[in-house]
Amino acid sequence: MSNIVAIVGRPNVGKSTLFNRLVGERKAIMDNQSGVTRDRHYGYGEWIGKNFTVVDTGGYVHGSDDIFEGEIRKQVELAIKEATVILFMVDVEEGLHSLDEEFAAVLRRSDKPIYIVANKADTNLKAQFIGDFYALGLGEEIFPVSSASGSGTGDLLDEVVKHF
Ligand code: GDP
Ligand code: MG
Repeated sequence: MSNIVAIVGRPNVGKSTLFNRLVGERKAIMDNQSGVTRDRHYGYGEWIGKNFTVVDTGGYVHGSDDIFEGEIRKQVELAIKEATVILFMVDVEEGLHSLDEEFAAVLRRSDKPIYIVANKADTNLKAQFIGDFYALGLGEEIFPVSSASGSGTGDLLDEVVKHF
């Protein structure tokens, strides 16, 4: 498979919301799923005539921030291995979180293109808080988006599909 976009980040930042927005109803079915890949959802997306596969990582317990360093490493290393482009999602409502730093530490070992997706930027005011995340020292660019409304996702996709 080629043209794979993996969405990584701590629980509750909105990864699955973005995934659903990018893939619509067309969920992919994967064979021979291992324990780790069972925690991932795959779907097909399309943007300006380019097709790609989106991976929603992290079947962590919904609503829980209770994840362990080992799980983060496992999910992120798999994303780094399989992805063409990595979307590292953070939450502008919550700001920079210690778990974001843990993800960043593993992501820093990747040589794949990484974009920081600053989700829940539902208003222009909230979008102004993306500055916090430059401290992660990671990523080609930070995109404020609202996965709930879809705003900002077009600009993000314009950039992502340049790699395909
Ligand atoms: P995941 O754990 O990273 O997959 O996060 P989810 O997609 O399950 O979303 C976690 C929570 O954030 C849910 O209550 C969503 O409705 C909410 N959420 C997701 N995207 C947005 C957004 O753009 N704005 C706001 N305000 N809430 C959002
Ligand atoms: Mg999810």
